[in-house]
Amino acid sequence: MAKINENFLNLKESYLFSDIAKKVDAFTAANPDKTVVRLGIGDVTRPLVPAVIEAMHKAVDEMGDAATFRGYGPEQGYGFLHEAVQGYYKSFGVTLDNDEIFISDGAKSDVANITDLFDQANTVLVPDPVYPVYVDTNIMNGRNIVYLDANEDNGFLPMPPSDVKADMVYLCSPNNPTGATYNYEQLKAWVDYANANGAVILYDAAYESFITEDGLPRSIFEIEGAKTCAIEFCSLSKLASFTGTRCGYTVVPKALTFAVDGKDVALNKLWLRRQTTKFNGVPYIIQRGAAAVFTDEGLAQIRENIGFYQENARIIGETLDELGITYFGGVNSPYIWLKCPNGMKSWEFFDYLLENAAVVGTPGSGFGKNGEGYFRLTSFNNHENTREAMARVKALLKK
Ligand SMILES: *Cc1c(COP(=O)(O)O)cnc(C)c1O
Repeated sequence: MAKINENFLNLKESYLFSDIAKKVDAFTAANPDKTVVRLGIGDVTRPLVPAVIEAMHKAVDEMGDAATFRGYGPEQGYGFLHEAVQGYYKSFGVTLDNDEIFISDGAKSDVANITDLFDQANTVLVPDPVYPVYVDTNIMNGRNIVYLDANEDNGFLPMPPSDVKADMVYLCSPNNPTGATYNYEQLKAWVDYANANGAVILYDAAYESFITEDGLPRSIFEIEGAKTCAIEFCSLSKLASFTGTRCGYTVVPKALTFAVDGKDVALNKLWLRRQTTKFNGVPYIIQRGAAAVFTDEGLAQIRENIGFYQENARIIGETLDELGITYFGGVNSPYIWLKCPNGMKSWEFFDYLLENAAVVGTPGSGFGKNGEGYFRLTSFNNHENTREAMARVKALLKK
């Protein structure tokens, strides 16, 4: 009889987004005259930019011509996209070899699949509140997870613990859900901790393109020593509206090695083997679109989209400032993480906003115990809806 992986039975059901949908549906049914404004969704709203569309159209034509048709491509991505990503990293001072860059169908898969390279006995350090993928994939593998408190005291940027020697550390900066972003000094402390303990940092940089302030690293590889301890995951999802188009990349430096029986084993080699065995690459058409993102034209067009979201974040922040509500993020991130007013709990504030302002956000408690009492708003909407939502919030909370 087949024995199942019983670790799956240890996963907690996540009802967060279905509970939100249920409550919103019930409210809409009871209040057909009211228009609900949603600032809860973690998905982009701006369309693909013209440079991407043009490159993909051209690639479609190539696929329809026997002379330029392509079948299976390299599992780790085409050279032209490696070069495009390499050039992008160079723009913030990071030098990478082509074969340190692995193209994938997005950061979620890579963040999850990277666990294949690590032993079950490793101790995993995960900040709380957190993007649920880090936790659930390690539960599926039966690893021991230690949570690191991210809270108001540490500005939602926890630093390395002195009492835990973790083997695998997940960091997400700019953070989903809190929007908090590590600076150079803080990341250096993490790199030093990892190198001292022989730990690996799994660095999720999905929101790096939202960083606008000076003095904040776009990549962990801007930190000295990171190439011997870190893997970086990035995605075109939030950078270039690829959430439905699917493309991301993972950087595994060749200097990241672990000694086994006196021999150095490079994780870069293991990841290549893992990908060539279990993955057959991202479609050529998508990779052509992705490469166009990193051209001067593509980057200029994308900057406009990101600026559009940043204006929404500014509108939200301005209203919260006027109301004297404490919040994090919103500057280098599409997310605004606010402290629920009047000591309300996350779901209490959710109900209050929905019932009295028909505005929807995401209860912070859905991201971990330290999220209780907090609430996430996103800038992924248009200006009109964002202004309308904030006008309603202001009218409600000013009293
Ligand atoms: C959106 C997001 C990603 C990107 O996932 P894709 O699979 O590339 O769409 C990765 N990490 C975090 C924290 C995210 O919020």
